[in-house]
Amino acid sequence: PDFCRRLPKVELHAHLSGSVSETTIQKLQVKKGVGHEGLQGDTAIGKGETRHLQEPFRIFKIIQDLSDTEESIFMMTEDVISEFAADGVRYLELRSTPRHMPHTGMTPQSYVESILSAIQKCKDREDVVVRLLLAIDRRQSVETAMTTVRLAQEYMLRSPGVVVGIDLSGNPAVGDGRDFIPVLKEAQNCGLKLALHIAEISQQAVAPETSALLSLPPDRVGHGTFIHHNQDLAAVVADRKMPFEICLTSNVKAQTVASYGEHHFQHWYSRKQPCVLCTDDKGVFCTTLSEEYRLAAETFGLTRPALWDLSYSSIDHTFVGEDLKQQLRDRWNTEKEKLF
Ligand code: 5GP
Repeated sequence: PDFCRRLPKVELHAHLSGSVSETTIQKLQVKKGVGHEGLQGDTAIGKGETRHLQEPFRIFKIIQDLSDTEESIFMMTEDVISEFAADGVRYLELRSTPRHMPHTGMTPQSYVESILSAIQKCKDREDVVVRLLLAIDRRQSVETAMTTVRLAQEYMLRSPGVVVGIDLSGNPAVGDGRDFIPVLKEAQNCGLKLALHIAEISQQAVAPETSALLSLPPDRVGHGTFIHHNQDLAAVVADRKMPFEICLTSNVKAQTVASYGEHHFQHWYSRKQPCVLCTDDKGVFCTTLSEEYRLAAETFGLTRPALWDLSYSSIDHTFVGEDLKQQLRDRWNTEKEKLF
């Protein structure tokens, strides 16, 4: 476990609201004057517990309702960054869905600006580099999704390099991903990278949206749990060497994967497909990135050098330019001497 914590790591799939720790939730409750009772068990899925995939979506809503001001978004972001850094994450891509909260006056713009201010505050930290993806929730209208892309485009130009891409997420049982194809193409055209949740539930292995989303093509696949159940889709992903964002604990706890041993990581990793271990929602699923590395080692028999390679190769799949990638590789190589 200590090796996994000391290993320098890249986190590429972390939703802000789902990453909020118990401590931060308590701070949010105090700010809002909400009682502690009852909420603790409701905002996290503990060790050994599993719930239906709909349950995390209920929890996200509770956390989103608790964080309805710019001040709370700033605090959450700062806390989440510090927690990832303390766990040995040296490069972090956060993602979050801009929200409009009319009752507090928070707008999608001020939401994004609060996150960016917290990231800006961490700019001088030596232990972690942070970038942001703006998320489209599948429940949203195409117009709202387009507004998110425009916002990302604006902030990509205004604070160069911090907003790097677009995520498509939200309840996979809702809506049709094909509706968002024009919006996602627009994002690609203005230089934003795409990390899309694809084939997270079994129905999506045969849904027309899956091949449509894959043909964009995305720069990374979120989960992709059921892609290997469909030969044609698997061939597309393999031919293009699309990187998978792998979230072991999240998938097992949300019951889209029956057990760690049956996780699709095994399928893709053994075929040398690029895979990046990620947490998804470290708060809601009570995990850390080092715990995900430990689980991968324990479940699939990965040696320390294999864990190192997995972490080092993740740098290739970050949404940053070659210069920063090289700086990260240099940093990894410096830390390697102390690790082995
Ligand atoms: P936020 O965007 O508010 O920072 O983070 C919470 C949101 O992330 C959720 O409302 C949901 O749209 C998305 N999300 C978090 N975890 C998952 C997941 O496992 N699957 C999918 N499809 N979406 C998720």
